[in-house]
Order: sequence, then C-alpha cells, then structure tokens
Amino acid sequence: MAFESLANRLQATFDRLRGKGKVTEDDVNEMMREVRLALLEADVNFKVVKEFIAKVKERAIGQEVLKSLTPGQQVIKVVNDELTQLMGGEQSKIALASKAPTVVMMVGLQGAGKTTTTGKLAKYLQKQNRRPLLVACDIYRPAAIKQLQVLGEQLKVPVFSLGDQVSPVEIANQAIEQAKAEHNDYVLIDTAGRLHIDEKLMDELKDIRATVNPHEILLVVDAMTGQDAVNVAESFNQQLELSGVVLTKLDGDTRGGAALSVKAVTGKPIKFAGMGEKMDALEPFHPERMASRILGMGDVLTLIEKAQANVDQDKAKELERKMRKAEFTFEDFLEQMAQVRKLGPLDDLLGMLPGMNKVKGMKDLKVDEKALNRVEAIVKSMTKEEKQNPELLKTTSRKRRIAHGSGTSIQEVNRFIKQFEEMRKMMKQFTKMTDQAKKKKGKG
Ligand code: GDP
Repeated sequence: MAFESLANRLQATFDRLRGKGKVTEDDVNEMMREVRLALLEADVNFKVVKEFIAKVKERAIGQEVLKSLTPGQQVIKVVNDELTQLMGGEQSKIALASKAPTVVMMVGLQGAGKTTTTGKLAKYLQKQNRRPLLVACDIYRPAAIKQLQVLGEQLKVPVFSLGDQVSPVEIANQAIEQAKAEHNDYVLIDTAGRLHIDEKLMDELKDIRATVNPHEILLVVDAMTGQDAVNVAESFNQQLELSGVVLTKLDGDTRGGAALSVKAVTGKPIKFAGMGEKMDALEPFHPERMASRILGMGDVLTLIEKAQANVDQDKAKELERKMRKAEFTFEDFLEQMAQVRKLGPLDDLLGMLPGMNKVKGMKDLKVDEKALNRVEAIVKSMTKEEKQNPELLKTTSRKRRIAHGSGTSIQEVNRFIKQFEEMRKMMKQFTKMTDQAKKKKGKG
C-alpha cells in the first residue's frame, strides 16, 4: 500500500498527542523531531523536509493553536494542511484546449510506465466522453509501437502510427492533422524513452515540442525509485518545461518520498497517480485526499467516486434486497465479489477507510488475494442449482466434486461453506438491527 510506513509512523506519533488537553512547546518540538525522521525515512528530499518542519513548527507553536481547546487536534490539522500544500494544494487537472484537439506529450525514461500510462490516460478521457487519439512516436524500442496498438485495440481507441522509418516529428504532425479531420479532441503522443537522460533524446523531444506546441507535457516517473524520480523530474523540467508529472507504481511505493517531494523540488504538480498495471488503475492526484490517507483519516471521497463509477447500481440494490431477506446465494456472493474487485486491490480499499489503522489487527492485515481466488474457484465449481441453493451442499459427494473441480480440498470447501453460513446469519442479524434502529428513530 502507498505510504504505508510513513503513515504508520506519523499516526503513532499523533496518537500520543490526540488526547492531550494541554500541549506545550516542548511537546511540539519533540513531535517535530519524530515527523522529521519519519519523512527522511520515507525518502523525502532533505531540503523539503527542513522547510516543511519549519513551517509546521511556526504555525503549531503560534498562540491560537496551543491555547485552543483541542491543541492536539489543531497540531494534526496544521500537519495535514502543510502536507496538502507540499503536494500542490489544489488538484491540478489535465489541460483542455479551447480549440480541439488538446495535444499531450507523454515523456519519460524507459520502464517508468509511459506507454501503459498513455493507455490509461486514454481510458480515463474516454470515461469523460472524450475521443482520444493515441500516437506511436517511440520508433526505437522494438515493441513499443505494437504495445500501443494492442492497448488501443483493447480500449477501442484509434492509434496513429507510420511505422519506424518516419521521423517522430513527422508522425506527430500528421497525427494532429488526422485528429482534426476525425474530430478527436485529445492527441496523446507516446514519445521515445531511454535508460538514462541523454542529449539526443532531449533534442528529439524538443523538436517534437517545437513543432506540435503541446498543451501538456506530462513526465511519467516511477514512484518506487524515490529521489531518483525527483532528480529525473528536475532534469526533464529544466530541458523541456513540463506541465505536470504522472507518478506510476504508487501502489507498490510504501515510502512515498517522490510523491511528497516532486512538487516542492520542481514546482510542477502531480496530475495523476498510477495504482496498478490494469488500464483503469489511474487516479487523478488529489493532494488533500492523499494527505488525509497518510494521516489515517481515510479517503472516503475517492472510495465513493470509485464505487459510483464502477459498481452497477441496480445490482447493488438487488443484492441489498436479498441480504435483507436472507436469500443471499453463492451466485450473489460471486457477483458481489466481482463488484468489489472492480474497485481495485483490497489492501488499497481498506487504506481509504478512516480509522482503519485503529481497528485492532487491521494495520497488519494483508488481504490474501490468493485465498480469495481459491474461494472464487470453489463457487465456480458448483452447479447452477448448488449456487442458488446452499442447502444442497450437505453431501460429501457434492463437496468432493467441488473440491476436485476447484483444485482445493474437501476441508477447504467445508470451511468456506461454514463461513458462508455464518455470513448469512450475520447479515440477517445486521438487517434486523438496522431495521429496529430505524423504527426507534421513527417513533422518537
Ligand atoms: P515504458 O517503457 O515507460 O513505456 O514502460 P511500460 O509502460 O512498458 O511499463 C513498464 C512496466 O511497469 C510494465 O510492466 C507495466 O505494467 C508496469 N506499470 C506501469 N504503471 C504501473 C503502475 O502504476 N503500477 C504498477 N504496479 N505497475 C505499473
């Protein structure tokens, strides 16, 4: 999960402060020492850390905070505000040209995730009812054109390519002409990457920029490379004048140093974050939500947005009805699992719930996706009748068949059926409880 270690450390520091009725200047100083260490350990740029701590201290020791009724809470609020500012304050959206098409140049080093991100961005724009055109300008890496074409096919987004014998400048130019003719409102140019920054690459990118006059130059960097990502961003920015950064692989970056330093070091905002390999694993970057995730306050807004965009609302209503009547079957179970999984890896979802770290044992909970796959296999190995009628699963012969079909054991099948029954019972009790609560409220 992103920012895991930093989040754990900061939250432990703040827990000690939260309940305090009185907070002294010494308390703040001591806490800031720990915050400083936590940030350095998260691989945040040391200059950025220094300035951050100075700002927080100045505000926290200010009279209105320490003398307030809830000094602990106030100090945490100051840290939250400053973290948000550090990452850019407001969300920085992708440009939209007043006259279509909006031209976006995607740049970055090899392996950072540039081509994948170009595809993800096309999908993101598609969901906003835009009509992107992908342009294959990486003519050097042998498989790059093919990779983009495959993504385009998968997403049903057109891909413009002239093979690898025409210059990237020419390809980009012709692509924009085609976009105008075909009424594509975004042109996403996938440029060449290198293993290291070199002059030849920069010259080529500058040539493309000079010819197409892009509205956005987005640099794709790998968050897992920490301060290297920040250095790469600084060099690209000096040469090309970026408009924004996309941080990829934030799903695997437990430290978060790049995410916290890029804006402060380069002055350029993070516009999107890559959260996985799949095409829908791209999130617009919201500094205030990210800060609140780091401080364990959750990010319910993103969760709700994900649910609204991905979960079939009619199906959700039908499931709720069934739960109330305890008609919930194995088939419904599969359905619900599929819906939840559309939202992303379960670890990440749990991290978005406020106070999740406070629930005993939750902090160390690793959702075992493999175990979930096995459960899914068990249900899929049931016959249609069995899926609809859990009562049928009493006989050993049926269980043996299911275990065999799913590559599991009878014990595992038994365990799952038992859990499922428990779950049904719980749902019944839960709906009874909420109904009673509603009735009481109605009377009172
Ligand atoms: P390019 O050389 O910069 O075009 O890199 P690619 O787009 O080919 O990506 C390199 C690798 O990183 C691929 O295996 C991608 O699946 C993976 N990748 C890209 N973005 C993400 C991300 O946000 N999260 C994770 N976990 N993997 C990613």
